[in-house]
Amino acid sequence: MATPVEEIKARLDTVEIIGRDIRLQRAGRNWKGLCPFHDEKTPSFHVFPDRGNFKCFGCGEGGDIFTYVMHRDGVEFPDALQELAREAGVEIGHSQPNPEARERRQTIRDVLHQAEQFLHEQLLNSPAAARAREYVRDRGITDETAKQFKLGYAASRGSSLLTHLQHLGFDEPVIELAGLITSNERGKYAYLSDRLTFPIWDSSGSVVGFGGRTLRDIEPKYLNTRDSEVFTKGHHLYGLHLARETVREIGTAVIVEGYMDAIAAHQAGFTNTVASMGTSLTLQQARSLLTSGAKKVVIALDADTAGATASRRGLDVLREAGEYTTGTTIDVRGLVRHEDLLNTDIAIAQLPPGEDPDSLIRNTPSQWTETIDAPTPLADFAFQWAGQDHDLDSLVGRRAAMRELLPIVAEIKDAVVRSHYFDRLSDLSGVPSDELRQLAARDGRRGTPRAAQTRTRPPPQAAAEKSDPLEEGLLEYVVRGDAQTTSLIGGIDPANVRNPLDRHILTTIISEIQDMENIDWSRIEEGLDPSVQDRLQELRTQASLLPSITAQELGTGLQYTTLQLRLRRLNEEIEETILAASEDPRLRQRVQELHQQIFAIHEAREELGGTRYVPPT
Ligand SMILES: [Zn+2]
Repeated sequence: MATPVEEIKARLDTVEIIGRDIRLQRAGRNWKGLCPFHDEKTPSFHVFPDRGNFKCFGCGEGGDIFTYVMHRDGVEFPDALQELAREAGVEIGHSQPNPEARERRQTIRDVLHQAEQFLHEQLLNSPAAARAREYVRDRGITDETAKQFKLGYAASRGSSLLTHLQHLGFDEPVIELAGLITSNERGKYAYLSDRLTFPIWDSSGSVVGFGGRTLRDIEPKYLNTRDSEVFTKGHHLYGLHLARETVREIGTAVIVEGYMDAIAAHQAGFTNTVASMGTSLTLQQARSLLTSGAKKVVIALDADTAGATASRRGLDVLREAGEYTTGTTIDVRGLVRHEDLLNTDIAIAQLPPGEDPDSLIRNTPSQWTETIDAPTPLADFAFQWAGQDHDLDSLVGRRAAMRELLPIVAEIKDAVVRSHYFDRLSDLSGVPSDELRQLAARDGRRGTPRAAQTRTRPPPQAAAEKSDPLEEGLLEYVVRGDAQTTSLIGGIDPANVRNPLDRHILTTIISEIQDMENIDWSRIEEGLDPSVQDRLQELRTQASLLPSITAQELGTGLQYTTLQLRLRRLNEEIEETILAASEDPRLRQRVQELHQQIFAIHEAREELGGTRYVPPT
């Protein structure tokens, strides 16, 4: 069974998490941006989605999402674990699913379901909702559609909803947990007030939150209920459970931005439409769409600057989430060439200026159909924006455009179409087609082949990787430590341990033993967060079952394992640096340095094997 840490890592996407804090841009298979941990003008902060790692080549900071959150928020592992577990929807603290939490989530869902019914009823019948009904009519929404989408009305100050829920027996704390109440210094009040409400459902059609549109002239125009145990912004696609059947049937999904766009589309019979509920499509959203059976995805955002920017980001996200096939071909010179081909067809519906999907569908549905049926293919769109972003009259501009376009062209599935774009890229960059293909093939070999991994959320059992024997071994040596080994343990660099839970335990041990004469294990255990105490106990039990060793053997074992771990980390850093170096030639120097350090470790290891180690007295 996967540990919570493994499951969290499998469920969350490093690019997505970090991308919320800093602007990341694609760099080949990976992403880069300005480092959040040090001041810099050119990006040296890289994110490696295949490994779930980040690394800054400026300040040296690096690690997994746990390390990231710990540094970002200045917190310890248990807090980062809490935060990320909530985000991933993973139970922590006990290996058994927590029945209390499960019951609480069910109650929250019940509250939301009752709220959905009540708000919908209000919209249909309440005198206070007259303006809301007028608005719905003005937007051309039929009664039938309003019922299908369970549109509702939250009255001013929303007290009627809260009173209703309390009458049903839900207490205030649970209504607050459902995200329907907010509080400030003046007290608690309903989150949605005088707004037209849109229930947001999860993929099974159970309501998890609400969007609300103001009926007055106030900002924000749209508001979502707060994140809760059942709702995380950016995880859900609006209308997915209603669109799924059509998407599966015809294989094409259309993504629009707003609730109204999606509703208008469904009403007009375009039932394969979902809304991102915000300008940027997230990786979770893209994945849920692709697992719903979409083979082709059309992005149809507003025809304005924000829409264009969001479309570009959406394309990257879809490429990231898309399904790939890895193929091996032999080229004319008999060289084996690896290709990652994108199975998912991605395109952009370019709307006439000033239009959004809602207006276009209502005013000229035929034009909407045309736009959706013949969208601009991803590669064409990419060529368009490369022309806008870069000065193609300059060599630097052409090179930059070529770098951006190459991965997009190289992953086109159809060989004839791919060939066409390679020629176009050759015209643009002045680099012969064949050379471009070689360049792409070389880039394609970096990192793990995409098809070797599941690009959609892996089932929990897939995340159950075997615990790392090297790290486990080190920890077993450490927990057998005594007065004679404190200085050796104190010298271990916890950064070499990958498992964040074990790294946290090791860090705690190291800091605790600094002022100890002998190692007081029960005191160390008390100092640990309850969520990690179990792990230390487990390690100590495991270690107690091992045959006893001499202090000398313990010392050598500790040192040897530390060297092995350091070696592994250096090798990883080399790989990461090589991955990033294709974008940044300065890093090649770093690769050299790392090789030298590895050589030094090999020497130290040999020496350790050759001479008997005498522990310090
Ligand atoms: Zn940095």
